[in-house]
Amino acid sequence: MKWSFKIGSIMGIPLQVHLTFLLLLLLIFFAGTSVIGMGGLYGVIFVILIFASVVFHELSHAVVARHFGIAVQDITLLPIGGVARMVKTPDKPTQEILVSAAGPFSSLVLAFSLWFVAYLIGIDVKFAEAEKGGNLVAQLIFVNVALAIFNLLPAFPMDGGRVLRGFLSLYLAPYKATRIAVSVGQIFAIGLFFLGLYSMNFFMILIALFVYLGAEAEERQTTIVSSLGVANAGTAMITDLETITPDDSIGHAAELYCRSFQQDFPVMEGSRLKGILTRDLLTETLHQKGPSARVKDIMITDFEFVNEQTPLSEVFQKIQTTGLKVVPVLKGVELRGLITLEQIGRYHMLCSGYSCDFLQAGKTRQTATV
Ligand code: ZN
Repeated sequence: MKWSFKIGSIMGIPLQVHLTFLLLLLLIFFAGTSVIGMGGLYGVIFVILIFASVVFHELSHAVVARHFGIAVQDITLLPIGGVARMVKTPDKPTQEILVSAAGPFSSLVLAFSLWFVAYLIGIDVKFAEAEKGGNLVAQLIFVNVALAIFNLLPAFPMDGGRVLRGFLSLYLAPYKATRIAVSVGQIFAIGLFFLGLYSMNFFMILIALFVYLGAEAEERQTTIVSSLGVANAGTAMITDLETITPDDSIGHAAELYCRSFQQDFPVMEGSRLKGILTRDLLTETLHQKGPSARVKDIMITDFEFVNEQTPLSEVFQKIQTTGLKVVPVLKGVELRGLITLEQIGRYHMLCSGYSCDFLQAGKTRQTATV
């Protein structure tokens, strides 16, 4: 996610913090009481404890997802909560239900455990004062219960919305199930928005916007994924490619760029793919360092790749989670082609509402000219 940086990792999953989250901490430290009812160091510690609860919630999604073989890219902390990004959405409805329900369930377990430990060591948990800042343990229990209930709202993209889609998918086509879950989510968001306006609760308005936009993004994503159908990477990859070498200059890459439609360039050393030069990187380097800069000093060497049989929908999800808009298609170590976000968009335009299976069947493809 943009503007996020890594602060560590838990169970091999990178933990990231979004810049706006740090701003929130600063705001609480200095502006204090008006933000969450308490300020200074105590406020900051309280917020950090809340977010430890959020991390626990997200980790439980991650553990169940992993159990079903779905890797978790990272966990990012935002001022409005956390996000665990998965490499793909679960295929089976029951998996989606279990992965989504794991978060709220674990928050309830954590709340109960906190209460139980406090009871054992004889801390008097004053729930009545929790809202006005009486007792730290009571407040933490309160926060975790709230986290569970709030996430169980049947509003996409909250966990409850995903659970709802999972149940609907047991009986309906995935696209229809998503549609219904999205509509329910947006009705909730609109309700929440007006409730926020009425009670002058800025945080509630923010969450309403987040839910509304999140629901829309989820629907768009499902529409694209369903139009990609059974197509695989081999069907939509660009094979007519110009390549460059690590020792080439940026000026040379710029010449190739201007002579063709190609945006991104595979960097080859002999027959081995060594890196990728994207359009953004090419433009930025040309403007900052001039045409004599070397490709090898700036090329992207940390990238994901797929093979020709990888489903196009999986390539699309990979592009979305990594943020790199180009994915090389390899056969062993041999480069067969490139898939870009634009290319997936073109395929989507052509095949949305029409079955493009013939493209798969009549594949008379030549090897990439590389
Ligand atoms: Zn959750």
